[in-house]
Amino acid sequence: MLDLVKRLAPLRLAPNSPETDRCVEILKEELPFTVHEFPPGMEHNGWIVPWSWHVEKAEIRKEGKPVYDGAAHPLGVMGYAESFSGRVGLAELKKHLTFRRDWPNAVGYHCDYYYKPWLADWGFSVPYSLYENLPAGDYDIELRTIRTPGTMKVCEFLLAGKSTETVVLNAHNCHAAQANDDISGIAVGIEVMKRLAGRENRLSYRLIVCPEHLGTVFYLAKIGPEKAKYFRSCIFLESLGTGGQLALQESFTGSSLLDRAARHFLDTGGWEFRCEAFRKIIGNDETVWESPGFEVPAISLSRHPFPEYHTSMDNPDIIREDKLRESAEAVLGILDILETDCRMERKFTGLIALSNPKYDLYISPGTDPSIASASDENRKKWNYLMDCLPRYFDRKTTIFEIAEKFGLPHRDVYLYLRKFREKELIEFI
Ligand SMILES: [Zn+2]
Repeated sequence: MLDLVKRLAPLRLAPNSPETDRCVEILKEELPFTVHEFPPGMEHNGWIVPWSWHVEKAEIRKEGKPVYDGAAHPLGVMGYAESFSGRVGLAELKKHLTFRRDWPNAVGYHCDYYYKPWLADWGFSVPYSLYENLPAGDYDIELRTIRTPGTMKVCEFLLAGKSTETVVLNAHNCHAAQANDDISGIAVGIEVMKRLAGRENRLSYRLIVCPEHLGTVFYLAKIGPEKAKYFRSCIFLESLGTGGQLALQESFTGSSLLDRAARHFLDTGGWEFRCEAFRKIIGNDETVWESPGFEVPAISLSRHPFPEYHTSMDNPDIIREDKLRESAEAVLGILDILETDCRMERKFTGLIALSNPKYDLYISPGTDPSIASASDENRKKWNYLMDCLPRYFDRKTTIFEIAEKFGLPHRDVYLYLRKFREKELIEFI
């Protein structure tokens, strides 16, 4: 995953740019993505597909000497800035500079014009240390940005399972040179899909990699609510490669099966994490998936906040392979609950002597290595579960509901119930 991050992070990404097209080509080397294309100028609900945009020249000079080369770093020119050439005074120049006071030697990420092309102006993103030391006088600006009719691209990889019920994974590829936000999410999404591809899945999975908001708005407009009704849930994968704890952001209602599965998996798995309501941790495409008419419950997993957010310091140096791997494991663990959840039908009447060797279903905590949570610490929980379990073979209660009720890891409860099925005491329905 880190190799992919290192490959994609230096690209001059934008919602639509030649290097975003390059990113799409690299993604297709990882998985056979289908690419949806949208022409510049296309409009939906007030959102506008931007032109393919790149910087050709971006110099600020004073008395013939270079002051700043905005083309040297992918963030050096404000995204979608207009061209400008001419001489301006210091006060005028400063109106066209953006910076991050908290990171005086770094360059900040500026994306306002992506979404508000009617505001677009010329502008540079500069280190604050440069901004505050600019001497008075005139400056010569030569900013040449190019717009071409190339299409905006949305990458979709479908892994069809037995059911059309679909879980969407989403990450964005429009932030120039932002390794954690969100190349890390792309890398984790691809890893998860590769791991799922090696299994027989009940559910279908779609990984969508596209520009933030613009990509998902036009993708959903294209497929329409009729097809999207199979999308049962969505996980936005955002900034997952740094050292901070996992941050689980709930869906709009906070009560969907995916919300409950995510909270349960992280809680019972001993993960260090925090959980907050919809849009209270970080804003991405949840509002698009959850928008009226679609209403796909969308949680997000991230490691927000991280100090380098939206600066040139968000580069591969801060990304850790172990954190990417841990994030992929968390996503797979949550998905495993959705995959294996089902109801049960009883094939017996009365009380079963679980400890009889012919059944061998009595769990003695501390002695059964096949069930990790059957430890001394959980003795009471497992004993109580064994007392109550037969009543839940009622065709109504799901395995996950049992796991949630007893506060035991879903996977362990599932593995235990599989033993009942092997003894032909129940069927999974
Ligand atoms: Zn961002």
